[in-house]
Amino acid sequence: MGKAELYIFATRESKDQFIKTRIENRRKNVETAGTIQRRIEEGGMVDCKICGEKTSMLGTRLCHNCWEVSARLRKFLQSKAGMEMAQAIIDEFVHKGEK
Ligand SMILES: [Zn+2]
Repeated sequence: MGKAELYIFATRESKDQFIKTRIENRRKNVETAGTIQRRIEEGGMVDCKICGEKTSMLGTRLCHNCWEVSARLRKFLQSKAGMEMAQAIIDEFVHKGEK
C-alpha cells in the first residue's frame, strides 16, 4: 500500500478529498500523508497532546480521559457543586506540591 492509499484508508477520505486535504495541509503546514503513514507504521499510536499517554485517536490526538475531561469540564464547572469539587481537587494537588 502506497502513502496515498494508506492515508485514504486511515482517514476514510475519498481520493478527491485526499488531494484537496493534501493541498490544504501543505498550505497550512500541518498533518501530511507522510506523518499519518509514520504513525500507522509506529502502531497507530500517538502521544496525547495533553497528558502524553499513548492514544490511538489519530484525529484528535487526545486519550479517552483527556477527551472526556476537555469535552465536559466547562459544563461541569457551571454548577456550584461541580466548581467546588474541582476547586477541592486543585487545592489538594497544590498542597501536595507544597509538601
Ligand atoms: Zn491524555
